Amino acid sequence: MPDAWLAAVPGAREHEPLGPHSWYGIGGRARYFLALDDDAGLAALIARLTREGAPYLVIGAATNTLFAAEELPGLTIKLGTARLAVDGSRVTASAGYLMPKLAADTAKKGRTGLEFGAGVPGMVGGSVVGNAGAFGREVKDGLVSTDVIDPQGQVHTLSAADCRLAYRDSILKSEKAGWVVLSATFETGEDDPSRIRDRIKEVQRHRRQTQPIEKRSLGSTFKNPPGDAAGRLIDACGLKGRRLGDAQISEKHANFIVNLGGATADDVLALMAEMRNRVFERFGIELEPEIRVIGRAPRGLVDGRRSTRFPSCPPSRSSARWIPSASSRCRFISTRTGAGWWAHRSRGWWARMPPANTCTFRRTRRNIRWCPPRTALASHPRCHRST
Ligand SMILES: Cc1cc2nc3c(=O)[nH]c(=O)nc-3n(C[C@H](O)[C@H](O)[C@H](O)COP(=O)(O)OP(=O)(O)OC[C@H]3O[C@@H](n4cnc5c(N)ncnc54)[C@H](O)[C@@H]3O)c2cc1C
Repeated sequence: MPDAWLAAVPGAREHEPLGPHSWYGIGGRARYFLALDDDAGLAALIARLTREGAPYLVIGAATNTLFAAEELPGLTIKLGTARLAVDGSRVTASAGYLMPKLAADTAKKGRTGLEFGAGVPGMVGGSVVGNAGAFGREVKDGLVSTDVIDPQGQVHTLSAADCRLAYRDSILKSEKAGWVVLSATFETGEDDPSRIRDRIKEVQRHRRQTQPIEKRSLGSTFKNPPGDAAGRLIDACGLKGRRLGDAQISEKHANFIVNLGGATADDVLALMAEMRNRVFERFGIELEPEIRVIGRAPRGLVDGRRSTRFPSCPPSRSSARWIPSASSRCRFISTRTGAGWWAHRSRGWWARMPPANTCTFRRTRRNIRWCPPRTALASHPRCHRST
């Protein structure tokens, strides 16, 4: 077993269920899982993981992450470090600091600029990676620098410019995938704490009004396309309230998929495919996922770049054109590779197409991705038409 040394890492748990660690309550297991409240030994651990060739994934509150694998290989690290330092106008928070707590705690100290954090239920690390934002402000507006560990275990300080923050995007999702955020420093302004608190209350009130926060979700499923809102497009396709298993497109906000209790990753992915497909059919717009899908996932339904060292994400979004097949059974087929999310309607449910009597599916390394061989696809009478 190449990863057997991981069992000896202090605190590492084997075959840990990920559902309880995810805001969504959905997930398979992690082969090895480590919850860290202290990042002192993290650089050395990352260096060792890289040397040993073991995949790793660092998560925060997993409010933006759908665990779709049966079991994630290697080590999954939940970073819960909670340090906060205020030095004049500079606020430095560790990766595991919750954004709403950051907003509240800096407000107490009379520092303004981080009120938007009250609308982002995740942690600082994930928020830097995804340039989280809400109600007109985002991480990019205040970030000065972030301390990170590279895959060789070296600690660097990246300036905000180095991070190349863009709409729900940063260099940590692409070129610097596998780098770990340790902390972030923000520039803040000064204001009266009670006025800052009022603004936080306003963010919370607006959130309660517009988002289904009483149910489990991952927030916005898709990014807004330029000049439009994904929720408006999905709503215009009549998809509000659409339900597959226990996953439902929220009645309150069409870009949220809520877990009504027992939703599975398959339910969520099939709903995402339907939302994306219907919007593409009607408006010719390809929605790009905002949530991070880890593990088995249809091509075109992850953000298209390798955002960690897991071999789970498709390499390129250029393969992500999904078109409806005329067949009632095959719905989404990648035009470039033929790989796809195969679904069929059965008693009102969508499910992954069973391999036996349809196409021969090949299971790739470590259970993570399904892909039909091109030959099987081309010879299948119902499936090859759209390739
Ligand atoms: C109800 C609800 C509302 C939401 N509203 C908003 C909103 O208004 N605006 C918004 O931007 N987002 C929103 N989100 C999404 C989410 O809260 C943010 O994206 C948040 O920044 C994610 O933080 P996290 O700790 O949960 O990250 P996770 O989901 O744990 O991780 C997200 C990504 O970052 C990586 N990552 C996490 N921590 C680190 C680290 N320390 N180092 C390196 N990589 C790391 C993970 O590997 C993963 O790729 C919402 C979510 C929910 C559930």
